[in-house]
Amino acid sequence: MIAPAPPTPGTPMPVLFVGHGSPMNAIQDTPWAQGFAALAEDIPTPSAILAVSAHWYLDGTFLTGNTTPRTIHDFGGFPEALYQVRYPAPGDPELAGRVRNLLGAERAALRDDWGLDHGTWSVLLRMYPQARIPVVQLSIHQRLAPRGHAALGRALAPLRDEGVLIFASGNVTHNLQDAFRRARGPLETPDWARRFDDRVTQAARDRDLDRLIALGNSDDGRLAHPTPDHFLPMVYAFAAAHPDDPVTFPIQGFELGSLSMRAFRFG
Ligand code: ZN
Repeated sequence: MIAPAPPTPGTPMPVLFVGHGSPMNAIQDTPWAQGFAALAEDIPTPSAILAVSAHWYLDGTFLTGNTTPRTIHDFGGFPEALYQVRYPAPGDPELAGRVRNLLGAERAALRDDWGLDHGTWSVLLRMYPQARIPVVQLSIHQRLAPRGHAALGRALAPLRDEGVLIFASGNVTHNLQDAFRRARGPLETPDWARRFDDRVTQAARDRDLDRLIALGNSDDGRLAHPTPDHFLPMVYAFAAAHPDDPVTFPIQGFELGSLSMRAFRFG
């Protein structure tokens, strides 16, 4: 593998949205895991990563302020080997403080009682297995409207000029009840999932954040996201994109019939 180039001065770092799917991608050699690894190969090596994870969904906007964030195994019923996984990337309290200032100190706070959950580490472990790049995680405020999230996402954009990778992790469609039912067979992708995935793709091509938010409120959106935790990381990615960023879709396809694993990259 050729080492990724350092950032070119004046070129902002890309913004990534990744569909993380099952935490098993961290330890199983799936096409998705291979796709995660490939994501890192054609972007410059970031100075640090700001991760927006669907799985830190609570009452407030928080940043991990620890120097050594722990690996959080926030799931149940998986093989023991998955609970042994550690992703020992350092934290970056200075970056956390700077991000807090960008978001507005009154809107965000630092916490040291969280770490990196599987929305972050199950993908980063494939992208950057050496875990040397500092990672700060940002929570998703569950009582904030999508436009509030969009404002926060926009405030993150200047980080791209400092070599920070904005890494949003959710899934374009995420109805686990439906997906687990389909896993018992027959494994078909329902029309609503394909339609929602297509429409989000088009909105990403057009960098149309308003349309993305409207899609979240549509009938298909309610089926695709019975709760908004895996949808909202997309809002951050769209909001941190520039109008002239090229858009690519390095990973696409469905897992368990209805779970879109699509990734997109702005810039
Ligand atoms: Zn998830």
